[in-house]
This record gives sequence, structure tokens and C-alpha cells, in this order.
Amino acid sequence: MTVSQLAKSIAESPTLKLNEEARLLREKGEAVIHLGAGEPKNRAPIAAILSSAAKLNTGDVKYTPADGTPSLKKAIIKYTEENYDKIVAPENVIVSAGAKQSVYNILYSILNPQDEVIILAPYWVSYPEMVRMVYGVPVIVKPEDGGFFPRMEDILKSVSSYTKAIIINSPNNPSGVVYSEEFIAQIIEYCEKKGIYIIMDDIYHKLIFDGKKWPSCYKFTKKDLESSHIIVVNGVSKLYGMTGFRIGWSIAPRELVAIMTNVQGQITTTVSVLLQAAAEGALTGLQSHIETLRMTLENNRDVMMQELNSFSGVKITKPNGTYYCLPDFRAYSNDSVKLSQMLLKKALVVAVPGKEFGMEGHLRLSYAGSIKDVTEGVARIKWALDPNSPNEIYIGDRKLVRDWK
Ligand code: PMP
Repeated sequence: MTVSQLAKSIAESPTLKLNEEARLLREKGEAVIHLGAGEPKNRAPIAAILSSAAKLNTGDVKYTPADGTPSLKKAIIKYTEENYDKIVAPENVIVSAGAKQSVYNILYSILNPQDEVIILAPYWVSYPEMVRMVYGVPVIVKPEDGGFFPRMEDILKSVSSYTKAIIINSPNNPSGVVYSEEFIAQIIEYCEKKGIYIIMDDIYHKLIFDGKKWPSCYKFTKKDLESSHIIVVNGVSKLYGMTGFRIGWSIAPRELVAIMTNVQGQITTTVSVLLQAAAEGALTGLQSHIETLRMTLENNRDVMMQELNSFSGVKITKPNGTYYCLPDFRAYSNDSVKLSQMLLKKALVVAVPGKEFGMEGHLRLSYAGSIKDVTEGVARIKWALDPNSPNEIYIGDRKLVRDWK
């Protein structure tokens, strides 16, 4: 079979692959603990469901404008005003099928072949692949000190005449860290001076702990939106627990949004009007459940930290947001793919290999599930890795056998 070399080289999404493996194991009746989850467990907000159902009941389910329904865009404009303290025009907003498509559409619309995009490790798995999919070159910048906080000096060394954009994701998937305001201010100032786009992936922006504040990126620029190089990505997946609704959006200068709209118009036409109605319901309905989710996650994070702090050999940087953490398991293995496979097979625990996020030797553990998932999941990992633990344990009638060397 002849297929495109580029398409063939694109890696399968490791998180989606692990989700599927876990699903198949659960289908077989295995007591899998999913510490790989990239979505909260809560049900979609009732306002989202009612809004979508009302639209469905009209039977008037048709194409919408390629950049989104005017009413959803209005809700996004209000959201941007309230959360970013920024007034944007409808021409600055484009709705896409999830923040994932938003990022892809941005990259497609700004990059020429060989243009470079700076990606800060640890990074969300899809960024490098998406850059490559549009014939761009991902330039991974890893802090020389091995930490999770990007440093200007490392970034400056990686900028070239081909650098077109940098992607900033804070709160960060997979580490859960929140970048300092000083860093965000510095990077925006630098990129705006150089004419480099700053893609702010703000998908977790309200899931932040310890009283920390998430700053609006617009606070750090004196430019108006039309001349600014800031592009904001956001969506309903993470804050509203609406991952399956596939609604994300971008806020950018009008000229770029017009190009992105042409691109999207040729590919997907639009996102389903039913799902856009759901997102509108979520954005305009009761917002208090975001705070409820945030508090639950903060509590789960605390339990996760307690469990990991008592895990001998494991080093952990405390996350201040999201529902992930990225502990360092190098005391046990430098091969996170092998480690993750062993944990799934022997301990029935899903953990995503750090290698996929540019941090070999680490595992991404999610605390989006229940407290029991966190405590039992980490207990099983301890059992599987501690040479002094019994060789066999029982989960109900299921015998787990350890043979990790
Ligand atoms: N950005 C980041 C950092 C993410 O973690 C995710 C989802 N895992 C997305 C974007 C994509 O979100 P969506 O479901 O809206 O496509």
C-alpha cells in the first residue's frame, strides 16, 4: 500500500491508545485503575444538555457559519471579557471541533514549510505531531535544570530566523505546573518584539490550586488585538467536563481568523450545531460547578501528593493546576514506555509514559478520577515496584503477580 510518508510518520496518540487498552481490559472484567484519564468524571452541565436538546427538538439541524454560530460566538466574547478582561469582536473568534482542531488550524494557517515552532517540554503530546503534519519543524526546549518550568535563557538559544511561533500551556499538561507571571510577561514581550506568534493554550485555566491566580495574557501586551501576536485557545472540554462535545475556539487578529475560517470551511465546514448549542448553554449557564470541580481536583491532588511523597525513590514536583502530575520514576526505570506497559499488565494501572511528553523516566498520573482510584492506583504501583512487596496480591478473586526487575 502506498501512503504519504508524512502521514505514515505521525505517531498514534498515546493517551487515546492507552484509553482504548484500558477500555478493552475493563470490558474483559479486569479491575483496571485509570490514572491516565484526561477528562473529569462529572456529567455535562444541565444547561448544556438542555440547550442542545432544545436545538435538537426543533428539528432544524443544519450547517452553521464556518466560524461558529453567532450566539455561541457571543457567549465566547462574554467569556473572554469576564475571564480575560478583554473585549474582542465576533471577527476575532472562530469555533472549532475541540481545542485540538483550534491548535491544528492555527498551525496550518501560520506556518510555511520548514518554519519552526518552539514547544516547551514537558509538552502536550499532540503539539509536535501537529507541527509536523503541516510541514513545520517542532523545536523542543527542555529546561537545562531538568525541571518543568521553562527558562528564557533556554528559549533564546533555540530561536532562529525560522521561528514562527511558541506554544504556551499553563496550567500545564502533563506536569500540572503553572508558569510564573514574570515568565509569561517576558515571553510575550520578547515574541511581540520579534514578531513571533504566542499560542496560549488556556484549556485548563481555571483548574488552579493553592489560591494561585491565573493571569490573562492580554495583561502583558500594550498592543491591540489586531497588531498583537497573541493567539488564545480555549474550550469547554476540561472546565465543563465536556470532552465528548468537541468544542474549542481561538481568539486571534481578524486577518488570521478570516484565513482560519477559509481553511476550516474547506475541511469540516463547521462543528455540529447541536454541540455548539451545548457549549453555549455551558458558557451562559450556572458556572459554580467549575469551582466545585476545581475544589474536588485540589483535594485529589493533595491525596496524590500524600501517596507519592511516601513512595521511596519517586521525586515529585507539586502541581498547582490541571489534574495531572509527572513524578520522576528514574530510581526504578529510565524506560517509561516499558514501565507503563508493565504497570498495565502486572498491576492493571494505566499511567502514561513521560517519554510521550518529552520527559523520559517520568509517568503522567492523573487525579481526575476518584480518591479511591488515586490511593489504590498508587498503592498498586508501589506494590509492583517495591522489591520487598509480596510477589502476589489479590484484587477480589483476581491474582496479580509481580515480576518487575
Ligand atoms: N490542549 C491541551 C493542553 C490538552 O490537554 C487537550 C486535551 N487533552 C487539548 C488541548 C484538546 O482539548 P479538546 O478536547 O478541546 O480538543
